Amino acid sequence: MKDRLVDVAVPFRVDGSFTYLVDEAMGEQISCGSVLEVPFRNKSTHAFVTGFPEKSTFDPAKLKHAKNVLVAEPLIEQKMLEFLQWVSRYYCHPIGEVLATALPKAAWQAPKATKRKSSGPTFDDVLRSSEAILTTKNEIAVPTLNSDQQAAVATILTTEKKPVLLHGVTGSGKTEVYISVLETLLAQGQGGIILVPEIALTPQLVGRFSRRFPGKVAILHSDLKDRERYEQWDRVRKGEAQVVVGARSAVFAPVKNLGVIIVDEEHETSFKQEDSFRYHARDMAVARAQWFGAKVVLGSATPSLESYFHVTKGKYVIARLPSRVMERPLPEVRVVDLREKDAVLDAKRPWISHVLLDAIQKTLADGNQVLIYLNRLGYAHFLFCRDCGHTWRCHDCDVTLTYYQTSRALKCHYCARQYPVPHACHVCQSLALDTLGVGTEQVEKYLNELFPAARIGRLDRSAVKNRAELEEMLTTLAAGKIDIVVGTQMVAKGHDFPGIALVGILVADAGLNIPDFRSAERTFQVLTQVGGRAGRADILGKVIIQTYFPEHPAIQMAAKQDLEGFYQMELSHREAFQFPPFSRMALLRFQHRDSVEVRRFAETLCLFLRQRFQKPDVEIKTELLGPSEAPIARVKGLYRWHCLVKSSSVPALHTLLADAWKFHEHTKSHVQLAIDVDPVNSL
Ligand SMILES: [Zn+2]
Ligand SMILES: [Zn+2]
Repeated sequence: MKDRLVDVAVPFRVDGSFTYLVDEAMGEQISCGSVLEVPFRNKSTHAFVTGFPEKSTFDPAKLKHAKNVLVAEPLIEQKMLEFLQWVSRYYCHPIGEVLATALPKAAWQAPKATKRKSSGPTFDDVLRSSEAILTTKNEIAVPTLNSDQQAAVATILTTEKKPVLLHGVTGSGKTEVYISVLETLLAQGQGGIILVPEIALTPQLVGRFSRRFPGKVAILHSDLKDRERYEQWDRVRKGEAQVVVGARSAVFAPVKNLGVIIVDEEHETSFKQEDSFRYHARDMAVARAQWFGAKVVLGSATPSLESYFHVTKGKYVIARLPSRVMERPLPEVRVVDLREKDAVLDAKRPWISHVLLDAIQKTLADGNQVLIYLNRLGYAHFLFCRDCGHTWRCHDCDVTLTYYQTSRALKCHYCARQYPVPHACHVCQSLALDTLGVGTEQVEKYLNELFPAARIGRLDRSAVKNRAELEEMLTTLAAGKIDIVVGTQMVAKGHDFPGIALVGILVADAGLNIPDFRSAERTFQVLTQVGGRAGRADILGKVIIQTYFPEHPAIQMAAKQDLEGFYQMELSHREAFQFPPFSRMALLRFQHRDSVEVRRFAETLCLFLRQRFQKPDVEIKTELLGPSEAPIARVKGLYRWHCLVKSSSVPALHTLLADAWKFHEHTKSHVQLAIDVDPVNSL
């Protein structure tokens, strides 16, 4: 009897693959992509076959035998496995966890149960709920494309090997371009993937795809139950569904004969996974398209600076949709300086100006809808004691607690812990408690007082908790049953608000204070996105931007709708400081219960890394900044430190990160280390 060597990946955070033995009978059943049951660290686990090595570096006598074959039929194709191995190396993340992200849990955990009928909501339920919103509105007829849309489709279909950036202003009809491209490719027997930032927030878009390609669409996102996700995935794998609409992990969907990957709202930071396997779905879409010879389309009204940069360098091709469909004119924009005392209503409410108030009044009198944007949840930013200055903070996180008036609670936005609202200060016993900073709850309450006849709705995560509530809200809004919507960044997520005539942005500079090199870019994007919701066919839209920092270029250029101007300026700024896209970055994140321990480990590791790249290399510039305490120094009881690595060379960066990982494993430190390649959030 001849034993055979087999390499497997296990779904844990352990680096590399592991070698086992299989007997001849088992060896004949399996191939790359099969799932085995193996003994692992005194337990038994499922494991994914990644290869059949000729020999092992380990003593063959010490190798263990695999126990069982769980799934003989390979779960993924060889090419996909190779791609995922590349992804694993790129993000310095264990292949087992990469595979666990790419494949639905049910595929490798309970493979025998696949024939059981699911008891949860079926695929059709999901589809129907996405369509509900459409049927309440006007039925969609297949629209004819305007000349810009036709030109964009032609550019996408004729461009080979380069990503196409589809830059279309808000309301310019990008979705019709996507659908037209898909129709052509489907007719040629190819399939496609459409990635959206947050599927629960985009029922309209999902509905449009499922109606235009009936029976051919699979939906993949993390809100699905394990079983349901598996069923969707399996339809794709078998070729029953040729179109996948999904969030992040759908980029790994096993679409047969992949023709195109479309990334809608490609500038959205939610394409980056922020825990565990920290990958960027847009970047992986570009990589996968290259790997599989497919097209890739990145669509946005406010492209990411990286994508824009690639266009200027000729690496990406651009297609433009410069005008809104049905010739809707771009809105008129006005900036209000909140520092001027006369501008604001009163000292108690420094966040609303006379100009905005008058405009709301006028818009309501004309029978039109108003959108008020403020990216702050709750009633107030925090609660404090007027006598001793005490502020209420989370016990487990280094942040102040947000005050919610409706639910009478103080909430931590980092660990979700809630505290009762105190009656008195527990430091000085004073009863003089007050709040500072404004949130959407307070705006809603105040507008209710000012405009008692107006119907006011709130669109944020505390008022709209799930897909059904969102759909209800959007339907009510579309039916004209709401006069004023107060919303957070949820309103900037690509929803179509056909009746909004006025957009008021309360504090435009709020995001500029975040210590991140992308804060200006994000501010520009959100102002442009939110402002773009104003106006419709028969009404010239109006945008009022209130700010304490009217001279900031991000605000000025957003007001002028000068995208090129802003990007040019921001690129020269990034170049001067060698920030991406002029360098590659990675963030090493350290976490531990003990503040001394985490600091010591971060410092030791950085010292080690500095020694590694001290040999002078004129060509490659690598820089290590830190370690330093993270801007939010403690979350969920864990102290946080980080250090930033910048390099002009990807291989140099990868070598350094691999060294960091090895050092961590070698020292067996209990400090958690997370490697975040191309980070989008440095808090
Ligand atoms: Zn006090
Ligand atoms: Zn907390």
